Amino acid sequence: MADMAATLFDDLLSTITDKALRRDVVDRDELLAVLASEDDELLDVVAAAARVRRRFFGRRVKLNYLVNMKSGMCPEDCTYCSQRLGSTAQIMKYSWIDTGEAADASRRAIEVGAKRICLVASGRGPGERDIDRVAGTVAAIKNSAPGVEVCVCLGLLKDGQADRLREAGADAYNHNLNTSADNYAEICSTHTFDDRVATVTEAKTAGLSPCSGAIFGMGESDDDIVDVAMALRDLGPDSVPVNFLIPFQGTPLGGRWELTPQRCLRILAMFRFAFPDVEVRMAGGREIHLRSLQPLALHLANSMFLGDYLTSEGQPGQDDRAMIADAGFVIEGADEPTLPAHRHDLVTLRRRGAGSSTPANT
Ligand code: SF4
Repeated sequence: MADMAATLFDDLLSTITDKALRRDVVDRDELLAVLASEDDELLDVVAAAARVRRRFFGRRVKLNYLVNMKSGMCPEDCTYCSQRLGSTAQIMKYSWIDTGEAADASRRAIEVGAKRICLVASGRGPGERDIDRVAGTVAAIKNSAPGVEVCVCLGLLKDGQADRLREAGADAYNHNLNTSADNYAEICSTHTFDDRVATVTEAKTAGLSPCSGAIFGMGESDDDIVDVAMALRDLGPDSVPVNFLIPFQGTPLGGRWELTPQRCLRILAMFRFAFPDVEVRMAGGREIHLRSLQPLALHLANSMFLGDYLTSEGQPGQDDRAMIADAGFVIEGADEPTLPAHRHDLVTLRRRGAGSSTPANT
């Protein structure tokens, strides 16, 4: 009986892999089956998803670097966030750092291999002066390193703000969906899932490369995980950060440790099958949840953050670079496109203004 179940799973995994390699849509039940796989099947799942990763991204690893331009004091109440309203987490709180400081931090990161700089600020969304300030920072970074990608993450956008960021030279906008629509009220009461969808759509329509992902380890079910993956797929992001909850004391989810390294690998494998040719990024929490299995995750994700996160320390950059080399991967060069040609061309077209006629699922 056990042999028959194993054979059925092998057949299913083979079907899922072939679909992903062809860039066909892997359906909901198939994605759920990846999450429900047994520990005995885990290495088979990783090996299958690794084939998909290699097909579209080879052995390249893209490095991204976060610059936290404004930290803490947010009026929103996202339960997972150390910067939320009422958070007593021990984090640094400051209002906007100046352009020179952000540009210097970016330059140092670029020198050690960062290909994308992510400019992040806490808050519900930017005011007009905030957009001016960030536009100046984008310009300063681009002036000193024209080839670097700059992604901006400022929360919910109002009409016209995405256009202004694109005109300032920003390449991408990050706004995560975080969890499923059904589960969203469990993690936030001050804005909605639909608000987040609207901002990702706004950024994409303005010609910015949409970056949107999720956080896991917040009590969500397998259905929630697949639902948010499918909602993301409908938005057609170019990059998808996969975060694992950093359970800050002083937040409602403080002390919640429900993930295992195996569960994290299944989630990353599921995202690789759902997004075969899209940048899938290991993001916050990888060190504390994947632990000694981090190198295996490189076979699934083609991108990761280098160094620290918004309000917590990551592992030192030299450890990340050593891990990448030891696992047989290479850091992606500044002049190598991250996405395969068919997707890279869409990003260029969107930016030139042809994106409004691009179907959402491309
Ligand atoms: S996730 Fe963003 S919007 Fe939510 S509390 Fe944190 S900084 Fe504020």
